[in-house]
Amino acid sequence: MSGAIGPGSEGMNLEHIKTCVRCGLRYDWRRSSSDSLKMTYCSHLCEAGDLGFTLEALLHAQPPTSTEAEAAPSEPETAAI
Ligand SMILES: [Zn+2]
Repeated sequence: MSGAIGPGSEGMNLEHIKTCVRCGLRYDWRRSSSDSLKMTYCSHLCEAGDLGFTLEALLHAQPPTSTEAEAAPSEPETAAI
C-alpha cells in the first residue's frame, strides 16, 4: 500500500491538529481525553470546564424517574372461584 489517501502527506498531519476552544492549546484531537468532543476540546477537563459538564456524564445521567409507577401495588391474588 503506497497510495496515500487524502491531500497533503507531510510528516505531521495538520488535519488532526485542533485548537482547543477553551484553552487555545493546539493538540492532536486523536489524543484528546475528551470522549465526545475531542475535536473541540483538548481534554475532558476543558470540555467539562467549558460546558459545566461532560456529554458522557450527560449521556450516562438518567432522568429522575418516578418510583410510584413501579411501586404500584399489584393486584392481590384472589381466589375468585
Ligand atoms: Zn483545552
